[in-house]
Amino acid sequence: MIFFFGTRSSTLLTDKLYHTNCAYCNEPDTVYLSVTSSYFHIFWIPAFPIGKKYYSHCVHCKQTLTGNQMPATYQNGLSEIAQRAKVPIWQFIGLILLSIPILFIIIAIIFAK
Ligand SMILES: [Zn+2]
Repeated sequence: MIFFFGTRSSTLLTDKLYHTNCAYCNEPDTVYLSVTSSYFHIFWIPAFPIGKKYYSHCVHCKQTLTGNQMPATYQNGLSEIAQRAKVPIWQFIGLILLSIPILFIIIAIIFAK
């Protein structure tokens, strides 16, 4: 039997970083911060989230930085957007589907006595 599994990612939140100049081109209010969530999937059904990644993107000079490459001037906006970006419930649907037969087995064992 062939199992299709792996990891995928989806964007949770993208928001503009106000009152901050781009670290490369120095243009004001051109930087956007994005939060993505990676999840493990089995047959393209999301099983569980693996982690979040953070990116900044300047719409003027197209510079893209990952979380640890961002300058200190982005960190206030980054911590604020990290608090607002919640992992959605659909990324746990594989665990929820897996727990249903396990609950039925436990209930069957309890009532079989
Ligand atoms: Zn720029």
